[in-house]
Amino acid sequence: MDDRATVAVLCYHSVAAKTTPTFAALTVDPTLFAEQMAALRECKLDAIRFGEVPAALSQGRSAVAITIDDGLADAADNACPVLAQLGMNATLFVPSGYVGGCSEWLRGADAHRPMLSWNAVESLAHAGFEIGSHGHMHLAADVNPPELVELDARASRYELEDHIGRAVTSFAYPFGYHSAAAQRSVRAAGYRQACAVGELPARMGDNRWALPRLQVDNDTTPEALVAMIQWRPGPPARAWARSKQGVWRLGRRSVGWGPAEAGRLEGAPQ
Ligand SMILES: [Zn+2]
Repeated sequence: MDDRATVAVLCYHSVAAKTTPTFAALTVDPTLFAEQMAALRECKLDAIRFGEVPAALSQGRSAVAITIDDGLADAADNACPVLAQLGMNATLFVPSGYVGGCSEWLRGADAHRPMLSWNAVESLAHAGFEIGSHGHMHLAADVNPPELVELDARASRYELEDHIGRAVTSFAYPFGYHSAAAQRSVRAAGYRQACAVGELPARMGDNRWALPRLQVDNDTTPEALVAMIQWRPGPPARAWARSKQGVWRLGRRSVGWGPAEAGRLEGAPQ
């Protein structure tokens, strides 16, 4: 067992050639995505589902976990075929209340992005991709009442499970926002692990209700992505990343601003 093992949990949103100014940073061009995945494949690290991350960490196995938030139709069109061709697993976090419609929790032009259909969600599940929940209505879990967060998370799990016919155990906090109460709500709603953002690779001993992810942007080169998954931050880098998260959370609760990735999202949303 390697107690220094890490799982780089990568966070994607949109893989598309067209985007909007507010969503541009979170949209990876399909050609770049294919190059990124080919580079990951060369690293010979297992690409696992997010639901397998806690077990991999407890067994001291390093891996990479690709996650795609928001359930946009372009995940099925542009990302999953590349992953399937390379034999790589991934997890799609789907806000169940918007399936078959548009991304109406976003603003302006972003609110009209087409979502996956239920047929597509079911096909992806049957093809072996993990379907996780991104809440039912994409609510920020840290500022809504814990009872509502639990209700929303449970409704999402039931609806996704009804469609795909298998257990849905993974949850991604909408906008990356969470709190201790939100973590308890998600746990009570029947999930087994959850992810936030965090800008760190996950490692043994991390809180399974807020496993950190690494954001992949539209300008992340394949070389930068490989460096990202091989990054083994020492205590100072970890402390710095955690203190940034703590300051963001405090700031968000007290004066309404949030983490860089979520701040971008307040206008363009994650
Ligand atoms: Zn989202």
